[in-house]
Amino acid sequence: MADFVVFIEQRQGVIKKASLEALSEAIRQSKNIDGNVTAVLICTDSTSLVKSITSFQPAKLVIIQGPEYNEYSTESYANALQTAIEKLNPKYIFAANTAMGKDLIPRVAAHFTSPCITDVVELIADGSHLLAVKPMYSAKAYGTFAFNSNIAFMTLRPNVFPLAEKTESANVPSETLSCPPIQVRAKVIETKASEKQKLELTEAPIIVSGGRGIKGPENWAMLQSLCDVLGAALGASRAVVDAGWIDHQYQVGQTGKTVSPQLYIACGISGAIQHLAGMNSSKIIVAINNNPDAPIFKLATYGLVGDVFAIVPKLTEEIKKLKGES
Ligand SMILES: Cc1cc2nc3c(=O)[nH]c(=O)nc-3n(C[C@H](O)[C@H](O)[C@H](O)COP(=O)(O)OP(=O)(O)OC[C@H]3O[C@@H](n4cnc5c(N)ncnc54)[C@H](O)[C@@H]3O)c2cc1C
Repeated sequence: MADFVVFIEQRQGVIKKASLEALSEAIRQSKNIDGNVTAVLICTDSTSLVKSITSFQPAKLVIIQGPEYNEYSTESYANALQTAIEKLNPKYIFAANTAMGKDLIPRVAAHFTSPCITDVVELIADGSHLLAVKPMYSAKAYGTFAFNSNIAFMTLRPNVFPLAEKTESANVPSETLSCPPIQVRAKVIETKASEKQKLELTEAPIIVSGGRGIKGPENWAMLQSLCDVLGAALGASRAVVDAGWIDHQYQVGQTGKTVSPQLYIACGISGAIQHLAGMNSSKIIVAINNNPDAPIFKLATYGLVGDVFAIVPKLTEEIKKLKGES
C-alpha cells in the first residue's frame, strides 16, 4: 500500500486546474497500486474552495489556513506542506509542474532528503510502485525513473493528465491542521501584475504562436484575431521575444513556458529544438510556414506551406463563418 499526498495550488483563492489534474492522476494511480489520496490545501480561507477539490473524491482533504498564506512564500508553504507530510506519511507527493510547484516541491523533497522528478508526462504502475517518465535533452529522449526511497516527489506537466469526472455529492472528510509558525526570511511585499493574457498560456487548450515569420510586432493583431475566434492564448518564439516584439511571459520553449494544448498553431516559426522542447507534447500541431523544409513540419500533424499573411486572415474568416460569426 502506498499513499499519496497531492498539493492543491491556489493563488488569490483560485485553484489551479493543473493541480486538479495531478489530483485526478493520483486517484487513478492509487487504484493501480492500492493507496489512499489526501489533497492538501494551503490558503487563507478554504470556504469557497473545498467543494471544487472534494468533487474529485480524494479519500481526505487536509487544510492548512491562515493569513500568512495570502501570498505565496516558499518558506511558509514549505513548512506547511512538510507538516502535512510528516502527519500523513505518504509514499508519493504530487503537485502541478507550475512556477509554484517547481519552486516548492524540490525544496520540500530536499527537506526529506528524498528524490524529486519534475515535469512528469507519464506514470506507470509497476507492481506496487510507480515509475515516472519525463522528457530529457529538450525532449530528444524520455527517461523512466524508479524510486529507491520511502518518499518520492513529482511535479506533473499541466494539460497532459486528464481531469477526472466530478461528483457533486462527494462526501469527503476534511481536517484542519495547525502548523507552527516559522520565522520567514523572505516575503513578498508587493506584486505587480504584468499585462494579463486573457488565458494562462500553460493551461490554454488552444495556442496560436508567432515567430520571426510574422515580420514585426505590428502583426500580433492578425494572430490575436485568430486567437479571439478560437478562444486561444497567444504564444511566441524566443526570437521575437529577444527582438522586443513581445514580453517574455509569452515565450514557449526550453527557456520559456512548457505547454501541452489540444491544438498548437505555429505561425512563421522554424521549429528549432529549443522551441519544440516547450510544445512537442501538444496533441495536434498545425504549422504555417513558407519554407517547405522548415523543421517544424517534421513534428506537425498538419502543415500549411505558404505565407502567414495570406493564410492566417483566411483561416480566421473561415472559422468565423463556421461559427456563424460573420
Ligand atoms: C540556450 C537556448 C535556449 C533557447 N530557448 C528558446 C525557447 O525557449 N523558445 C524558442 O522559441 N527558442 C529558443 N531558442 C532559440 C531557438 O534556437 C531559435 O533561434 C528560435 O526558436 C527561432 O525563432 P523563430 O522560429 O521565430 O525564428 P526563425 O528561426 O528565424 O524562423 C522564422 C520562420 O518563419 C518562416 N517565415 C518567414 N516568413 C514567413 C511568411 N511570410 N510566412 C510563413 N512563414 C514565414 C521562415 O521560413 C522560418 O522558418 C533558444 C536558443 C538557445 C541557444
